[in-house]
Amino acid sequence: MDLTLSPQEEAFRDELREWLGANHPGEEPEGDEAGFEFRKAWQRKLADAGWAGISWPKEYGGRGATLIEQAIFNEEIVRAKAPQVANVLGLVMGGPVVIAHGTEEQKQRYLKPILTAEEIWCQGFSEPESGSDLASLKTKAVKDNGDWVVTGQKVWTTFAHEAKWCMLVARTDFDAPKHKGLTYFLMDMEQDAVQVRPLRQITGESEFNELFIEEARIPDENVVGGVGNGWMVALTTLMHERAGLAFGLQVQLKIALGQVMELAKEHGLDQDPVVRQKIAQLYIESEAIRLNASRGLTQIMKTGIPGPEGSLTKWMWSDTNQALTELAMDIRGPEAPIIDSDWTYRFLRARANSIEGGTTEILKNIVAERVLGLPRLR
Ligand SMILES: Cc1cc2nc3c(=O)[nH]c(=O)nc-3n(C[C@H](O)[C@H](O)[C@H](O)COP(=O)(O)OP(=O)(O)OC[C@H]3O[C@@H](n4cnc5c(N)ncnc54)[C@H](O)[C@@H]3O)c2cc1C
Repeated sequence: MDLTLSPQEEAFRDELREWLGANHPGEEPEGDEAGFEFRKAWQRKLADAGWAGISWPKEYGGRGATLIEQAIFNEEIVRAKAPQVANVLGLVMGGPVVIAHGTEEQKQRYLKPILTAEEIWCQGFSEPESGSDLASLKTKAVKDNGDWVVTGQKVWTTFAHEAKWCMLVARTDFDAPKHKGLTYFLMDMEQDAVQVRPLRQITGESEFNELFIEEARIPDENVVGGVGNGWMVALTTLMHERAGLAFGLQVQLKIALGQVMELAKEHGLDQDPVVRQKIAQLYIESEAIRLNASRGLTQIMKTGIPGPEGSLTKWMWSDTNQALTELAMDIRGPEAPIIDSDWTYRFLRARANSIEGGTTEILKNIVAERVLGLPRLR
């Protein structure tokens, strides 16, 4: 792919930089609820100015921009150290899935409130016995008078405590082979049959939850992509999750690397050959991630769907981010894990990187089979 920006892409980037310079909302306030409201207001501001759903069609409230412009947006927003948006899962996964597989009514109903963060989305895929082997999930949905009645348990459901809609995958056919018996639903979280219980993480936060679902009702019109097609629709969701984030993540790594260099200077370790070698290696890896993200983008532009390159990028990013935060802890010295600092938080949060959105072992299997063409394991 040609990595030079066209005059049109440069103009897009400059306009965005100027807007971000003039509209940056400042530091996020302390506290889960205050932070969430702040991110909601920030997303609303982005949406009002036409900076949400960059590559979504204009008719559904998007900007109708190219995928390269979407990648530029992801880079610039991180470079400007702009806050996170509130409805990450809706923007990165929910919207693209409804655009790809939804009916016209679903597009009209769901897309705009995703952009403005009026309706927050969560992803109900993982279950206590089904994470990596997602197709073995047991939550069941049974048809009853035009509705589906759903019973089961989900786990690690990020933002479920804030969400109006859940992208839920449930088993609708118990006789079909396991990948073929699944259906993808949009479940309204605002019903008594859905109980959300927070889980506390190693960082002290509770960004994810357990979901207990006891005869929840979902109208038939909330099936996405057809009954029995849940596996295919879920795969699209996961590929969007991996492909969409790469550009922002590599800029985040570069910013963090600059901070590690500052930290090394502060601790008199910037001339230490081992520290310098580790920093150089992290720089090389973050460059490889940037180039691989471009390779993934080329693939999407050619075929219209994200390819397995996203799995390679996500694996490389989680390894690199974990190594980077470990280096920061080493530089700070043996007391680092017990000091309640930003680096301690980042080090602890990074442990989840090689699990969330697909574990590193599973991503390695995908890369082996689908990128390198090695024989299938089973
Ligand atoms: C911060 C965070 C947020 C999350 N948010 C969500 C969310 O919003 N919605 C959601 O649905 N899920 C979410 N998850 C769940 C996540 O997708 C799962 O944790 C992940 O898919 C792994 O599943 P598991 O935890 O059941 O582990 P398991 O699948 O039980 O795996 C256990 C270990 O075995 C390894 N393993 C399993 N199978 C194989 C294999 N075939 N080959 C080699 N090794 C294998 C795994 O790599 C892992 O090391 C989140 C997780 C985290 C950490």
